[in-house]
Amino acid sequence: MVPPDPSSFEICSIGGNVATNAGGLCCVKYGITTDYVLGLEVVLSDGTAVRLGGPRLKDAAGLSLTKLFVGSEGTLGIITEVTLRLLPAQPPSSTLVATFASTRQATDAVLAITAALRPAMLEYMDRVSINAVEDMLHMGLDRDAAAMLLARSDSRHLAAELEMKSMVEACQAHGATEVLATDDPAEGEAFVVARRSAIPAVERRGTVLLEDVGVPLPKLPELVAGIEAIAAARAVTIALIAHVGDGNTHPLIVFDPADADAAARAQLAFGEVMDLAIRLDGTITGEHGVGRLKKAWLVD
Ligand SMILES: Cc1cc2nc3c(=O)[nH]c(=O)nc-3n(C[C@H](O)[C@H](O)[C@H](O)COP(=O)(O)OP(=O)(O)OC[C@H]3O[C@@H](n4cnc5c(N)ncnc54)[C@H](O)[C@@H]3O)c2cc1C
Repeated sequence: MVPPDPSSFEICSIGGNVATNAGGLCCVKYGITTDYVLGLEVVLSDGTAVRLGGPRLKDAAGLSLTKLFVGSEGTLGIITEVTLRLLPAQPPSSTLVATFASTRQATDAVLAITAALRPAMLEYMDRVSINAVEDMLHMGLDRDAAAMLLARSDSRHLAAELEMKSMVEACQAHGATEVLATDDPAEGEAFVVARRSAIPAVERRGTVLLEDVGVPLPKLPELVAGIEAIAAARAVTIALIAHVGDGNTHPLIVFDPADADAAARAQLAFGEVMDLAIRLDGTITGEHGVGRLKKAWLVD
């Protein structure tokens, strides 16, 4: 089988990005789309074009209608123009990859890293997702690791060195079996491709119910352990990838749609993961929105 062309999942419109208030791998340091939207032109349902906000970094006049439209999924109007706050280009990133023999060690390392600094990326892959990616890309990932962390620093000069040193030490202090730090952009990018490939790689194993639950960072270890317990209790495969620096996880519940019992257990697990997140003061969706699938879990 030919691996999917990465460019096929790297394209979206700016209007769609703003309408979904999309996030991703770099939000831990840079925030989400709404943090960069200064102004909008929107066409309302009666055909009126209105301008909200504008090219001003600070603007305290009136209610923030711009924020209301960001993430409104086309329900309030069609976005026809966007004024964005731009950042200066960042220097090339340094990348850290660490593997752990237990998921608890990995999540504890995340808490230690985020207590000290904001990396440009802090991502998590569990054993199931590591193996799915390894099956697809054959890049020599550690198939026995319980979890892998992928972190990046794009700070300048000495600051980058200090951030990398601090993250390496945090991983080692929490029992990492291997820690690799590199400032080679190509080597670092290969690991980011591995992380970005996780969803298509896991989708090769069956139908996937994609979760999006998030919790306050201190509750991250409990969330990860709870998801493992749900997978074991329901005898379903759950691959866990996560924007761990944000406490936002994507449990991927894999099942065979031809097996009615497996499909039913997957649905139960899907609900139990959201129940767990709610119990931990979390959210049923950190990025993807509610939709029909999650409407029943939406609390006031
Ligand atoms: C609620 C939601 C949240 C998402 N969050 C993330 C995320 O955090 N990270 C991530 O990587 N992906 C996320 N996605 C996937 C998302 O589809 C893509 O990230 C992408 O940004 C959407 O762009 P698109 O051009 O493909 O939009 P489309 O898929 O074409 O549209 C997506 C939504 O935006 C509306 N829309 C599109 N263009 C406009 C416009 N000009 N004016 C008004 N409404 C418009 C559509 O009606 C639709 O509701 C999310 C999807 C949804 C539905």
